[in-house]
Amino acid sequence: MIEDKNQQRTPLSALGEFGLIEHLTQNFKIKQTSTIKGIGDDAAVLNFDNKRVVISTDLLVEGVHFDLSYAPLKHLGYKSVVVNLSDIYAMNAKATQITVSIAVSNRFPLEALEALYDGIETAASIYNVDVIGGDTTSSTSGLLISVTAIGEVEAEQEVYRSGAKPNDLLVVSGDLGAAYMGLQVLEREKEVYKVNPNNQPDLEPYTYIIERQLKPEARKDIPNLLSELGVKPSSMIDVSDGLSSEIIHICKQSDVGCDLYEEKIPLDPQVISTCEEFNIDSTTVALNGGEDYELLFTISQEDYPKIKANPNFTVIGYMKEAKEGLHLVTRADTRIPIKAQGWKNFTE
Ligand code: ADP
Ligand code: MG
Repeated sequence: MIEDKNQQRTPLSALGEFGLIEHLTQNFKIKQTSTIKGIGDDAAVLNFDNKRVVISTDLLVEGVHFDLSYAPLKHLGYKSVVVNLSDIYAMNAKATQITVSIAVSNRFPLEALEALYDGIETAASIYNVDVIGGDTTSSTSGLLISVTAIGEVEAEQEVYRSGAKPNDLLVVSGDLGAAYMGLQVLEREKEVYKVNPNNQPDLEPYTYIIERQLKPEARKDIPNLLSELGVKPSSMIDVSDGLSSEIIHICKQSDVGCDLYEEKIPLDPQVISTCEEFNIDSTTVALNGGEDYELLFTISQEDYPKIKANPNFTVIGYMKEAKEGLHLVTRADTRIPIKAQGWKNFTE
């Protein structure tokens, strides 16, 4: 869609593996006191004193998780870091380091990897994490990116998916469904472009939802905010696969049920208008869309006064006994069971 055919193309073979690693990682700076040794030795060395260490990893595959015909490589680099940091924040932890591994085919010139690493560096700098290592190898077809994120948390502050109790309130940060609707717009424009490459799309009405798809942000601010408010969630998870599957994870692991109120689900006006345009139900999008990277958590009712005036949070339901089940309470006050939708990558 936005490919520039006149770009400079330096073949990766011109640098060799070590030259490439050196070139791509030359700008990374170490800022965390917990990083003793970063890139350049056989392994990185970290020191977390007596903190708990949390680790999470993700693998992104071209054609499965991203489509380079509309995802600029710089955004892709940024997003691959952010989606991992989101998992660290979901443990109520502070992210401190990442490693980045790539497998790349010779169809990519050096300039493409520079753009990818530009995005990685931007995210690392904004989220204040050190890039402390990785691996670089060739691939016979597409691009693969694996990021591992490391973080730290005081033992008494860590939050699992398993701590929700009946009567706890279910709370979500930000708004939902935007990344999915951004993807719908991008897919539509890709089809239009295939038919007529001279047709420049007007994406102005969709800026927020496209940004949520191509350049999502993780909620680094939420663990800090909760701690300032004196609230420790009883359970927490990040919204990567869609609200319904995250609620199911919390309920299963905590052995509780849940009532989710349709009218409470936070939606941006651009999501509502784009859903109308595409004739898609906005609740379905919030429940099953995914890639929101918001945090979904439960708190005890006692903590409600501490969060109720905060614009970052919306109470969307409450937890029940496991035997009551999991339900969406619709605007028409009917109760619909919440069902799993996961494993999208294998069924589509
Ligand atoms: P090894 O042969 O021990 O795997 P490498 O030559 O692959 O070592 O890596 C050398 C250094 O560069 C290591 O510190 C490694 O973590 C780092 N590194 C390799 N590839 C990447 C990458 N794609 N991004 C960031 N760091 C990397
Ligand atoms: Mg290696």
